[in-house]
Amino acid sequence: MTKEMREHKIETPKEKQNRHKAMEAKTVLQKIKHEFKEPPKAMDYFYNLYESVHCRHEPLHNDKIKVGTMCIQVPAEIVYALDAVPIRLCNGFYTDDEIGSDFLPSKACPLVKATVGQFASDNFSDKPDIVISPTTCDQKAKSGAIIEEMGYKLFDMEFPRTKESEESREYWRRSVRKFTKELSTDLGKKITRKKLKEAIKKVGYAQHLYHKLNVLRKNIATPILGVDMFLVTNAFFFDKIDNWIEAVDALVQECEQRVEDEFSAAHKRSPRIVYTGSPPIFPNLKVPLLIELSDAIIVADETCSSNRMFNDMVSVDEWFVNDMIDSVADRYLKGCTCPIFTKNEDRKRRIIDLVKDYKADGVVYQAFAGCQVYEMEQRSVLDAMEKEGIPIIYLESDYSPSHMGQLTTRIEAFVESLKNRRRKR
Ligand code: SF4
Ligand code: SF4
Repeated sequence: MTKEMREHKIETPKEKQNRHKAMEAKTVLQKIKHEFKEPPKAMDYFYNLYESVHCRHEPLHNDKIKVGTMCIQVPAEIVYALDAVPIRLCNGFYTDDEIGSDFLPSKACPLVKATVGQFASDNFSDKPDIVISPTTCDQKAKSGAIIEEMGYKLFDMEFPRTKESEESREYWRRSVRKFTKELSTDLGKKITRKKLKEAIKKVGYAQHLYHKLNVLRKNIATPILGVDMFLVTNAFFFDKIDNWIEAVDALVQECEQRVEDEFSAAHKRSPRIVYTGSPPIFPNLKVPLLIELSDAIIVADETCSSNRMFNDMVSVDEWFVNDMIDSVADRYLKGCTCPIFTKNEDRKRRIIDLVKDYKADGVVYQAFAGCQVYEMEQRSVLDAMEKEGIPIIYLESDYSPSHMGQLTTRIEAFVESLKNRRRKR
């Protein structure tokens, strides 16, 4: 093709979508890289990873069967034990959210619309061979059916809506056993004791490294920004697990050195924030960015795109396949604090503990417009924080790049009020 032809080449819809997505990704990465104090050098691995996957659309897992997961409730240990890779399909692109609006009500959750939009336009770097859809929230459950109608192979995984009872535990265990059996048949792979044990150990080691990094954020001189932490944890959605482990190991070492040197990623007087609510997923890091650009720092979070993915390790009594599968199931149910449950006392307890342990000044609660459960649960979380004397702000947001003015004003006012509160103390 001559230069002239290339210049006049008409873009296909897919090329156009990919160009828009690359622009979204680049804009956010540039902000994170250049608008803050020196990021850790080890973050370069993650910046390059996002550029490769989301700006250049380079696949990472050509040689593997890819199991797309619609929610964190799909046990990664089982997928790895069957020689496949889990790819989390929760999506943060506004381009895909707009495409998804043709398939779902305009007031639906942007995360769900973006997930459906990506299937509709088939603009994956690593296209899933099979999709697992746990029946967690209603919108996820219904969107699974829409994706299946588009011709994708999909497996529903039944999930209980109560958490505390023995019945729900048994119900979920049965669901995980069934999932293991069906995935094993579908992939033509047998789950072995050795492989499952290895997978449990590997995912457990990734969790351990995350906690080692996370705990460093308790220091008053916090070594890493919240936006960088979201990049690290979001990368676990799609990265090769061995590479992720190696990169986080290097980041832990660098952050430990920063703590020793009393290097802080923010100003020493920047208010410390615990972030909770609908999950920030790259490149929709709009609210975390606004918080940190307003001179506050996110020191901990309670979201399913970050901290919640690494909660509760698998605890195995007997290393036999069936016992291990049940133990894996227990870890996922116990660790989940998504508001899809009828009662969700664990979530409130966890937020309060995070505020205390990480010496936070306040909580930011974000709900996506269209997510009823996060919207509905905000009142009880606000009440619980009020009882503890913890300042909290509730924000509603979506993936649209417009309407930033009001969000910015509210966040800046909240940060200012936290600074005043500190001065008075
Ligand atoms: S918000 Fe809840 S339902 Fe949605 S992906 Fe996260 S854990 Fe799953
Ligand atoms: S943010 Fe709400 S609607 Fe969206 S996936 Fe999570 S629980 Fe479902």
